[in-house]
Amino acid sequence: LVPNPGLEAADAATPTSWFASGWGDNTATYDYLNTGHAGAHSVTVTVSDYSTGDANWGYAPHAISPGNYEFTDWYQSNVSTEIDAGVAMQDGSTQYFYVTKVGPTEGNTWNQAEGVLQIPQGAVSATFFHLIAANGYLTTDDYAVTPYTPAPFTRGLVSVTFDDGWQNQFTNGLPVMQKYGLHATYYIISGSINDTPDYMTVAEIQSLKNAGMEIGSHTVTHPDLTTLSSTQLTNELKNSQTTLVSDFGGPITDFAYPYGAYTSATQAAAAQYYQTQRSVESGYNTADLTNLQDLKVQNVFNTTTPAQVQAWINQAAADRSWLILVYHVIAVSPADPTDTQYTTQPPDLDAEMAEVKNSGLGVVTVNRAVNEITPQLIH
Ligand SMILES: [Zn+2]
Repeated sequence: LVPNPGLEAADAATPTSWFASGWGDNTATYDYLNTGHAGAHSVTVTVSDYSTGDANWGYAPHAISPGNYEFTDWYQSNVSTEIDAGVAMQDGSTQYFYVTKVGPTEGNTWNQAEGVLQIPQGAVSATFFHLIAANGYLTTDDYAVTPYTPAPFTRGLVSVTFDDGWQNQFTNGLPVMQKYGLHATYYIISGSINDTPDYMTVAEIQSLKNAGMEIGSHTVTHPDLTTLSSTQLTNELKNSQTTLVSDFGGPITDFAYPYGAYTSATQAAAAQYYQTQRSVESGYNTADLTNLQDLKVQNVFNTTTPAQVQAWINQAAADRSWLILVYHVIAVSPADPTDTQYTTQPPDLDAEMAEVKNSGLGVVTVNRAVNEITPQLIH
């Protein structure tokens, strides 16, 4: 699906079908090299004066059918870089998807970048691009995009998760979970417990636990963890766990990032306290691609319909993968209007939990899902 994937064919001084691409406030230099991973050529982009944007070598979109695809290339770089995809849709719009991040390479070693993207229904064409968004260089070669079949678990799973510990998750959410006999994971901001009327009280969270719900951590004060000193970071990770264990009993094993924001440094720190870390990057967790420090999710927004949730369920059933749903406010209208995007109407939650109940998937908390899948992971 990638034209001239080894970058060997050339028109004058540039590889056939490839072009320089970039935007933002930075200085990017693009070169066609006479060395490569395999063969005699590769491409490189060097960025300086970086403030915003990114830069990459790209190729024109090619026709693609909906389904799972694996992207690979070989690269050398001195900074972390990212792989994204642009997907042209039948309605004329273009959707952009995050695929994965990869770390810098050592010396002249070539590393293989690898990531999987689910191309959605309605897709017409797609192009994947490996970009650099920092001062540094990125050299790439030997690209491939191929249909991918995920390795299945013994059964498909779904976990329902609620972030932030809102009062309405107790008042409006818990009755729905109990109506269908489902167990969810509630990621609690420990410093907001008892902060009524917006957040749940200790007694209410204890009621959740008594009803079979899992209590997870969502930090002490809900900061962007990527902006903190290492001491502040440790306090947010460790003290939230200590408080939750003290209030509700342990262990508290699972953690969700405020704003979904993380770095390799926050991952390393959080791994000292929690068995899993969950951001808000969309995707499914499969037997060969699950990263317990970077669980993938499907985000339920105010625009998300029960039909969309059913489609995610159907995909998890077909792939026997683990689907994690992320909910925030469960209310007719949020207390804070800026939370509108993150608000699910109670009747929609009811319809979606009926779908979950009838899905045929195992419906388990994050903690129980991890216990079930860990022996099945393929690395
Ligand atoms: Zn949050």
